[in-house]
Formats: sequence, C-alpha cells, structure tokens
Amino acid sequence: MSSEGPDGNAALRARDRRALWHPFTQMRSWMDEDYPVIVAAEGCELIDADGRRYLDGISSLWCALHGHRVPAIDAAVRDQLDKVAHSTLLGLGNEPSIRLAERLTALAPGDLTRVFYSDSGSTAVEIALKMAFQFFRQAPGSRPRHRFLSMEDSYHGDTIGSVSVGGIELFHELFQPLLFASTTLPVPHGVGEAERAADVERCLARLDAVLAEQGDECCALVIEPGVQGAAGIRPYPAGFTAAVVQRCRAAGLLVVADEVATGFGRSGALFACEREGIEPDLLCLAKALSGGYLPLAATLAGEHLYEGFLGEHEEFRTFFHGHTFTGNPLACAAALASLDLCTAPDFLPRARALGDAIEQGLAPLTDHPHVLEVRRYGTMAGIELVDDRGPPVRPYPTARRSGHAVTLAAREQGVILRPLGDTVVLMPPHVIDAPMLGRLVDVTRRAVDLATA
Ligand SMILES: *Cc1c(COP(=O)(O)O)cnc(C)c1O
Repeated sequence: MSSEGPDGNAALRARDRRALWHPFTQMRSWMDEDYPVIVAAEGCELIDADGRRYLDGISSLWCALHGHRVPAIDAAVRDQLDKVAHSTLLGLGNEPSIRLAERLTALAPGDLTRVFYSDSGSTAVEIALKMAFQFFRQAPGSRPRHRFLSMEDSYHGDTIGSVSVGGIELFHELFQPLLFASTTLPVPHGVGEAERAADVERCLARLDAVLAEQGDECCALVIEPGVQGAAGIRPYPAGFTAAVVQRCRAAGLLVVADEVATGFGRSGALFACEREGIEPDLLCLAKALSGGYLPLAATLAGEHLYEGFLGEHEEFRTFFHGHTFTGNPLACAAALASLDLCTAPDFLPRARALGDAIEQGLAPLTDHPHVLEVRRYGTMAGIELVDDRGPPVRPYPTARRSGHAVTLAAREQGVILRPLGDTVVLMPPHVIDAPMLGRLVDVTRRAVDLATA
C-alpha cells in the first residue's frame, strides 16, 4: 500500500467524491475533507488505503462489538458461505434463522417468544410500529388506537415510520407533513441532582395528563430504555424508564423497547431492559446483533401479540410485511457466532469493567471549561462541548462545528470518533485492552483541548 498511486487514499477519495452521496453529510464541505478510505481492519483498528491505522473509538457506528475480523465470526460466515448465502423466508425456512430465533427468544428480557427479521434498526422499529397498530385494529372489542407515544429527542431511525416517532428536530422537523400522529413526551433535562429530580416529576405529570386525555387512542409507547443514544448519549435518571413504562402499561398501551443501540451488553446487562427492570411487548434489535458484520435486525414479540394475528386465511389478520433479505443466512450465522461471544461467562463483567474504565479515563474532562457534561451509560459515553458552562449555559455556534473539530483532531492522532452535534461519542469495541483504551481516552482529551482552544 502506498500513499500515492491508484490504490492510495487520495485516488480513492477522488473517486468517492465523484460517485457517492454520504449519509448525514453536507456533501459540499465533504469535498474539502481529507477523510481516510478504509481498506482493511484488525481487532480494534481500521486501516486506510495508505496503510495508516486508526483506533475505532465508535465500533464503526456502534456495531463492531467484538472488534473487526473476529476469528469466530469470520469462520461462521465462511462456513455458511459454503452452504447458502441467501434463501428467502417467504414460503421457506432456513436453518441459521431458526437457530438464531431460538437463541434470541431464550436470551431476551421478559416473555418474548417470536422473532421477525429485517435488516436495519429503522426497519426493526417500523415493523414494531405496524405490529402494534395492526394488533389493536383487529383485537376483539378494542377500539382502534392510532397514535404513538414517543420521547422528546428520541431517535429510532430514518424511514418515515421511525421518523414519525423520532424527536430530534434537526433530522425530523422537515418531514413533518409526511409523518403520522405521535405525541412527544418531555424527558428530564436538569443538570444536577435536585434539578433533575424536579424535572422527573414534571415529566411524569405531563405523561399522566397525556394518558388521561388520549391514552385510549394510543397503541404503543416507543422508548430507548435507559439512555437516548443519538440524542447525545443521554441517560435517563435511574428509574425513569420503568416509571414511564409502568404508566403506559396501566393505560393499556403496548411497550416497544428500541435496543438497537443498547442491546448485547452495551448497558452492562445483556439488554438495557433488564437493567431498567422493564418487560416490553416488542423489542427492536440491530446494530451489534450480527457483531456489526452484516445488516441484520430483529423485532421480537410476545406470544399474546403474535396470537392477535392468527385467524383463517380469509380473515386477513396476516402481518403483511416483509423484506427481501429477511432472515438472511449469512447475517444470521454471523449473529449466532456473535451471541456465543456475548454469552461467554466473562462478557458482562468485562463490559461493566470497561464502562467504569471509560468513566475514570474521561473524569478529568468534567472540569474542563468547555465541557458541560460527561455522560455515560454502560460502555456508551458522550462529552458535551459548550462555549460557556454558565449559568446561563452558552452552546457553541452551529457553524463552528466543535464536535466535528474534535473528530478531526482525534483522527490526526489515529483515533476515529464521530460526534452527535457538539457531543463527542465514545463507544469502543468491548474487546479493547487497557493500553488501547488509555490511548483512546488520552487522544480524546487532547482533541477536546485542541478543538476548544
Ligand atoms: C441506530 C439506531 C436506529 C436506526 O438503526 P439503522 O440500522 O441505522 O436504521 C434506531 N434506533 C436506535 C436507538 C439507534 O441507535
């Protein structure tokens, strides 16, 4: 590999700029950026076309839980390739999808007994929404419930249905005319214990009012249990998720838990639902489900919900939904190998130790003059940058792109990060060792200094 010539970064970047449209990217400024083009990886490191190595501080957007080129997952995918790469679940079964469904239902929180496959977090949520809606349409004696309850600042994906229950104004507001009815519930924001406790009361009171007013029109609550990921790694106060879920349950709503980000040990438990003590009716999984190898998602449903779709053929209670690559055997084989790693005896203790180590490593930043908060939930961390910690708090101007500036400074030093606005996110692979974590944390701290100087 060389830094010049047709296979180097510069040449590949030129072709990338001509042919691609990147996600969540202003393509005009992208043209001026010297981004690396990744051609290989090893463990926790990505390798670009010039042979430069980068520590993958965000697990390739929260997916690569066990790092890259994991021998057991590589072998499982290769093995499956020698059998069949793809065969449809429409009219046929396939073996890896059966084994995976059995494992998922055995491991999932609560009493989830059925697995519906798709290929992204967005579709996993979309499916849960349609299931909840249709369930009430055909439940005997039930009036149709057509609204959803969702949380302020929540993120559930980018398809129209998942955007309808999303609450991030920047991503979602524009599409308002296309969206269906959803009521947004406030989430506690207060900085500091006392302020937060008061805010929790305010939010729950608002929820009570919403449920009294329109509870019987609502089919489901959609919530990221424990922490709002894309909102900037914002953990809910302890007990808040359970309090919201309990109230919605009492009002007859179904509960959809979106664990696309938190699933598979990120919370310190295998699922955040367990940590939060909730048992959802529908559970959405994606991102790390396949160890981050292949696009795979699953929507898990309870038996009572599933039974609501049973009937004679001509009753049309069927769930009319399905994607071409539903239950793809290669992706399921990768997921089975990943689950073996997630269920090894030391997996969760290691995850909890990693979470503690991340917090310790980032602790010095809590006193930084341009850091409002360092937030952590399990092995997910966010560092929120501000111009002035206040009071009153003064954010950086959007045009300054402070979070992005940290990312660039970190990349210079061989670490890949990806901000959410002015929040810098760390979500390393769970296999990261102490020296590498030390490097990740040191580089992040230095990058924050440089970008806020
Ligand atoms: C990433 C994410 C999604 C969307 O998943 P995609 O695979 O990008 O469609 C949905 N919900 C949560 C909580 C997520 O973090």
